[in-house]
Amino acid sequence: MKMLDIDYNELSPMMRQYVDIKKEHMDELLFYRLGDFYELFFEDGELASRELELTLTGKNAGLKERVPMCGVPFHSVKPYIEKLVTKGYKVALCEQLEDPKTTKGMVKRGVVQVISKGTIVDLELLNEHENHYIASIIDYNYLYVLCYADISTGDAYAVILPHKEDKLINMICSLGILEIVMKDNLDSALISTLKGHYGIEISFSNEELDNEYKELYAGIEDEHIIHAMKHLLYYLVVKELKDLSHFKPLEVVYPDDYLEMDIHTIRNLELTETLRMKDRTYSLLWLIDKTRTSMGSRKLKNWLLHPLKNKELIIDRYHKIEKLNNEFIIKDKLRDNLYEIYDIERLCAKISCGSVNARDFLQLKRSLKVLPEIKSEISSLGFDYDIKTHENLYNLLEASIYEDPPVTLKDGYLIKEGYNKELDELKSIRSGGKDFIAGFENELREKTGIKNLKVGYNKVFGYYIEITKGQIKEVSEDFHWERRQTLTGAERYISPKLKEKEAIVLNAEEKIIELEYNLFNEVKDTIKKELLLLKDTANVIAEIDAITSLSVVAEEYHFVKPSLNTKHFLEIKDGRHPVIEKVSNMEYVNNDCIMDESINTLLITGPNMSGKSTYMRQLAIIVILAQMGSFVPASKANLPIIDKIFTRIGASDDLVSGESTFMVEMKEAKNAICNATKDSLILFDELGRGTATYDGMSLAEAILSYVSTHIGCKTLFSTHYHELTTLERIIPSIKNVHVSATEEEGKLIFLHKIKNGSIDKSYGIHVAKLAGLPDEIINDATRILANYENKPHKNKENEQIQLFMEFPEEKESPVIDSLRKIDPLRMTPMEAINKLYELKEQLEEKK
Ligand code: ADP
Ligand code: MG
Repeated sequence: MKMLDIDYNELSPMMRQYVDIKKEHMDELLFYRLGDFYELFFEDGELASRELELTLTGKNAGLKERVPMCGVPFHSVKPYIEKLVTKGYKVALCEQLEDPKTTKGMVKRGVVQVISKGTIVDLELLNEHENHYIASIIDYNYLYVLCYADISTGDAYAVILPHKEDKLINMICSLGILEIVMKDNLDSALISTLKGHYGIEISFSNEELDNEYKELYAGIEDEHIIHAMKHLLYYLVVKELKDLSHFKPLEVVYPDDYLEMDIHTIRNLELTETLRMKDRTYSLLWLIDKTRTSMGSRKLKNWLLHPLKNKELIIDRYHKIEKLNNEFIIKDKLRDNLYEIYDIERLCAKISCGSVNARDFLQLKRSLKVLPEIKSEISSLGFDYDIKTHENLYNLLEASIYEDPPVTLKDGYLIKEGYNKELDELKSIRSGGKDFIAGFENELREKTGIKNLKVGYNKVFGYYIEITKGQIKEVSEDFHWERRQTLTGAERYISPKLKEKEAIVLNAEEKIIELEYNLFNEVKDTIKKELLLLKDTANVIAEIDAITSLSVVAEEYHFVKPSLNTKHFLEIKDGRHPVIEKVSNMEYVNNDCIMDESINTLLITGPNMSGKSTYMRQLAIIVILAQMGSFVPASKANLPIIDKIFTRIGASDDLVSGESTFMVEMKEAKNAICNATKDSLILFDELGRGTATYDGMSLAEAILSYVSTHIGCKTLFSTHYHELTTLERIIPSIKNVHVSATEEEGKLIFLHKIKNGSIDKSYGIHVAKLAGLPDEIINDATRILANYENKPHKNKENEQIQLFMEFPEEKESPVIDSLRKIDPLRMTPMEAINKLYELKEQLEEKK
């Protein structure tokens, strides 16, 4: 049954209300609140029952047929919404705007909020370690502006990007943006890449929000950014009806302030998740995240993905780590206190969007309680953080909020005794009434002589007197009781006196609940006024937590403080790959990496599995850690400040886009070559292996020479083309190194040690044997290899290597020769056919 096909006039009034609201929200699944349920009707109902595996029922709505319907209980709606939203649907929550108890006729309803992928706020499954960004892109034809915000924390940022799609996509992916709002003039190829390839939700809207929330971009002058912000705000405020009072003013991000890494680098180095399992466990972030709050965890991730380039800022973090390492007693106390702090950022978001409950307030209170101690610890460390302690809020929460409240707000038990006089009075009236009722039972038993008489309560009849069947004859007319309910074994009565007291109790009860609710909201409003200050505090706590985590990591894994230089000098002594060191059950072999001003490229050779890729990753990780302000896994490190890192590591086909390994390889190489500067770091791991040997080798050589002589940035280049090692003699800035392996009794031992010079044995067959290929194949391969090796080679020493394949001249067939001599224009058809026969005969003869 299609909603738009049915006759509106035949519908019941309620269904008409539904249709009216639904017509305004055709893009969303409408969750229509009906008592204790959210119901979905028509197509929405069918879809939701399929996606959520709910039973599809029907509702009488005035039509001949019942309208398809499915529903979920309101108190457990969150996981259902989350499931739909993560599948890419949007949900409009339609609430009852009046109290059905006090309303005559139809209850007014309206959509209070729209939830989409980028704007989930208070769902249980929201990952506390991640930011959840929704963004707006505006395409100005000569540049892009990207504005992005996290509703659950109230952060908003803007960045101006050059008009290059790859830069834009890179930024979007590395930030992990979930949803993008666009104007409909955006390039459709870009949209399908974002949507199809990266699974980002795309929403369209052309409008911008005027005036409202102006304060969020008050300090910004750039009109491009203002438009993008207004565009995002329109979507959030008008389309999704969000309250943004917890938002901090828009912050403009300048990508040039940070070490630039593209999305491949972030993935290849497994900074935040592993390549294979896409899991946080065993990523670098996993290793270094010793934070104690979710705010700190998010901050640390942010630092890791945006390493700094400003020397002073970096060194400031080193100093703090050093100080914390020395003051270990204070550090321990500080960490204990941080552990008490809840996610203040997200609590702020809940307060402003209205979904906050009394338990959240208790979390806030506990968080605020430790602030004075943290403040004093920070001041004894001499750190320049400004921590507000919010005593007023703490005192308010301590005085007002009941210690064991329910999650709901309409059941009372929110407010402590002694906070509000009127409330306390109502409560004593209620308990007086209850006391009376408890005593009334005894009183009646004595008066009537009915031993098992009971006074009870239920929701429908209120207080009643219950008499078992056997005793009914004892009930006399003089009691003035009124019969209310007949059960199988008993009768229930009410009496005027009981009803009088009941009215007092229930009346007080109702007033208590309402008053508690109002008092709770007053507390909420008071906190709301201080939301921005609270958010500042949350940010400072996040920084303290992140820096403390880096100090813990430095100590636990024996990292050292790096020195930074501006002379393109790079020296790492005993460097390690911290994750492999931690998770591998073998002893990790330290390696130096030294490149002075004259050497910018290390050409690495070595057998498979010897540790080439690890060595390259290790360098990049050390650089990133150093520039995010962390100590590094080495015994000594002196590093230049790097501006961009490019990597081409591993041969993972880009399956989604359908591009071959080789194409991806070349694109990544192009990206590096076109964007790298003298201050960059490039890692090329076995470049060119995705194509035929000679192609690959030629390209590898050309790229290597170009990078080393034209760009001059620090480069690690691993290769299995041994021929390339002769370049060392031609280009002085290239140096050969190798990772060694030895053979013992035919078995291969990897030493994982980087040494000067090159190596020409690739031990491929040994590795194949290690991998467990059948002996038959191994033996055969050994024989074939020996064959190749015994063939005479051209001596390549002292000659410029010639990489182009020389094809042996093949003897031409006489048929071709004859063909060449023919001039078809001067032949008659008969001559032509005769010639054809002749040629064919010649061919046959040859056979
Ligand atoms: P390659 O790139 O040369 O094929 P990898 O860098 O992938 O080799 O290393 C292969 C394996 O060897 C790694 O998974 C790691 O377990 C181990 N390995 C590499 N480098 C070291 C090292 N320095 N110390 C200990 N184990 C190492
Ligand atoms: Mg490798």
